[in-house]
Amino acid sequence: MTSRGLTIRFDTPLHHGNGYGMAGIVDRPFLQDGNGLPYLAGSAIKGKFRYAAARLVTTLGSESICGQVAGQFCRPSESEGTGPCVLCRLFGSPWRGGSLVFTDARPVAEEASLLRQLAPADKGRAHGTTIRATTAIDRRLRIVRAKHLFTTEVAPALSFEGRIEGDLTPADEQLLRHCTMLLTHFGADSARGLGQCRFEIRHQTSQGDNRSEP
Ligand SMILES: [Zn+2]
Repeated sequence: MTSRGLTIRFDTPLHHGNGYGMAGIVDRPFLQDGNGLPYLAGSAIKGKFRYAAARLVTTLGSESICGQVAGQFCRPSESEGTGPCVLCRLFGSPWRGGSLVFTDARPVAEEASLLRQLAPADKGRAHGTTIRATTAIDRRLRIVRAKHLFTTEVAPALSFEGRIEGDLTPADEQLLRHCTMLLTHFGADSARGLGQCRFEIRHQTSQGDNRSEP
């Protein structure tokens, strides 16, 4: 199995939530590991790549893909002979596992050790994060909605490292690299200026030598 390094470098602070609010402390906590360090979920990274790949394949019109939503994925019966579409093959569907595995991405070693020096400001918070108060806008009335002040845990502009594993054709590899050019944000609130980042894939051979893809 071939393994590639994936680096996600943020130019702005970011919020990547765990989906659970801590009542009375912070409404939208950042996802953190057992050591209190923020990280990015592999499933969310995979979702970004699947979305970018769908846009690329649709725009280029190079091959046809299924609907990519529940009820419209390639079904096993349709795959006989031609095989599933490239998105189902790489990213999986309810009917089959994808050939790509995206690991969680963690802060690069140097930044992880820096974060560990910064004790969490409050119980339950991740190392190095800050809390931002945000409001909700009523689009119809064009005013800030009453009783909608909420708090979001935000990590500083870090670099995260993960891996993309799986054996791919050269065309698949190229599709992944093109996805990295299309992806410019990760996490919530990009409209508020959060989560601006760059994705970079490093090819790693079985010998373990590391080189940057052009
Ligand atoms: Zn499909």
